[in-house]
Amino acid sequence: MDKNVYKTKPSTCPACGSAVIAKILYGYRKMNPELIKDVNDKKVVLGCCVTKPDFPAWVCTGCELPLYCEGGWRLSGHEY
Ligand SMILES: [Zn+2]
Repeated sequence: MDKNVYKTKPSTCPACGSAVIAKILYGYRKMNPELIKDVNDKKVVLGCCVTKPDFPAWVCTGCELPLYCEGGWRLSGHEY
């Protein structure tokens, strides 16, 4: 199966058409009200602490399709 690779976060899912694409945050995160709100709003999904550069940068919240950033998730505008 081909990976879905993008330069910037796609506005809709190529598989199901959902417009709710969440950014995956990797690494240890201090939970704060803003982050909790983003998680509840499905803007953000918390990834695991062990990361690889080729992990997906975003995920569709409709069908859970992983979406990859060209050059790796570190280049997708994540503040890490
Ligand atoms: Zn989808």
